[in-house]
Amino acid sequence: MSKEEIDENSLQSDDIVNSEDMVNSEARDDEHSLRPKALNDFQGQERILENLQISIEAAQGRGEPLDHHLFYGPPGLGKTTLANIISREMDVSLRLTSGPALERAGDLAAILTNLKENDILFIDEIHRLPRTVEEILYPAMEDFALDIIIGQGPAARSVSLKMPPFTLIGATTRFSLIGSPLRDRFGSVYRLDFYEPETLTRIVKRAAGLLEVNLPEDAAYEIAKRSRGTPRVANRILRRVRDFTQVRNHGLTDLEATKTAINLLDIDDIGLEEIDRRLLKMLCTDFSGGPTGLSTLSAAITEETDTVLEVYEPFLIKEGLIQRTPRGRVATEKAFKHLKITPAKHTSQITFADIEPADTKQHSNSEE
Ligand code: ADP
Repeated sequence: MSKEEIDENSLQSDDIVNSEDMVNSEARDDEHSLRPKALNDFQGQERILENLQISIEAAQGRGEPLDHHLFYGPPGLGKTTLANIISREMDVSLRLTSGPALERAGDLAAILTNLKENDILFIDEIHRLPRTVEEILYPAMEDFALDIIIGQGPAARSVSLKMPPFTLIGATTRFSLIGSPLRDRFGSVYRLDFYEPETLTRIVKRAAGLLEVNLPEDAAYEIAKRSRGTPRVANRILRRVRDFTQVRNHGLTDLEATKTAINLLDIDDIGLEEIDRRLLKMLCTDFSGGPTGLSTLSAAITEETDTVLEVYEPFLIKEGLIQRTPRGRVATEKAFKHLKITPAKHTSQITFADIEPADTKQHSNSEE
């Protein structure tokens, strides 16, 4: 079987367990076709790419599997894409699964025993692995051994089975939920950052080429700067712009049509969608700018706390619109300006005295 066939098989097999993908197969098909397939096709995240290139070359030179890798960062920044690229560059096959899909230790043991030498196992949302399943990973990652309990009660005994060397690639949006026993077993840990508009412009132009959309530079830049620094969002907006221009603009994708299409999606100048603006507005008005606890804020906009934490908040923090403080979330001066709301007098006093330096929060364990 060729490498191409192996990849197709592994991507289409039942091993792909990703709830978001399951509900959105149209987007998944497109994502597959737009996914960069080689390291030099992947834009941005230069430091990660350089380190990966070195690790891959070194592992190939020694004829060993690649060290275990952990990628973390907000959704849509390229974690799964990098796992796919690594498997191609290493010329090994990739098995995909996710934390919530592995309910029992036996589920993971079954996958591990089916791996072939140097295969890559990708576990998405690895922070959601149940503890009993996670514990199976420790000896597997460290000694390529599978510790299994046979029998029950006093007759139970532990057997250690050898398994072929493999590479685990974990992906997570919640780094702080990965305990140190697991974290320390990864040879490399990388954080993916939001993309700058210039890099996203290159990503949009590449995707436009693949989708056969004739997109001028200024229109590509417009999509890039309204995509929350996220390639998945940029690709999604590009598809909607393509629809719009096909139906309303005789297929002409110029800057003006692009702007109109994005406005129609209710995405503002800096890429905020309706839900982001609702969250900000709630914080600025109903909670007088904060500090407000995450759960209170999430309940007020009827969203899951995890969704706010993983999906909405990282970009709002990156844009300097909200800050995490020990007492809760706080809207910044920029947020009030963006929404054209005048802060109540006492608000600004609370707000700016409570703000911590941005960097200390990235790795904070107390996300709440
Ligand atoms: P994650 O696993 O971090 O949620 P994905 O790897 O699934 O994100 O990326 C989402 C989509 O964004 C991919 O299908 C791919 O087309 C695109 N993408 C992500 N990162 C890049 C990149 N650096 N260059 C080009 N396209 C990218």
